[in-house]
Amino acid sequence: MALANHDVQEEICGVEGCNKPAERSFNIKQVSKTSLSLKDPSARQIHLCKEHYKEFKKETKTDRSLDQVY
Ligand SMILES: [Zn+2]
Repeated sequence: MALANHDVQEEICGVEGCNKPAERSFNIKQVSKTSLSLKDPSARQIHLCKEHYKEFKKETKTDRSLDQVY
């Protein structure tokens, strides 16, 4: 068996001005709702580093908690 796992490319965070390795990827629609500015707004998927993932989560969480006021 020869799986080419070493071929996996490291993704870089898609937030403008950030060049950190990405932790996760998201649909661009989710990310464009937040205040994060993206290098490539026409991409379908956006990769986020740890820090920007935290920020993304914080902002989407705020959205959700508004629904849970009652
Ligand atoms: Zn980043």
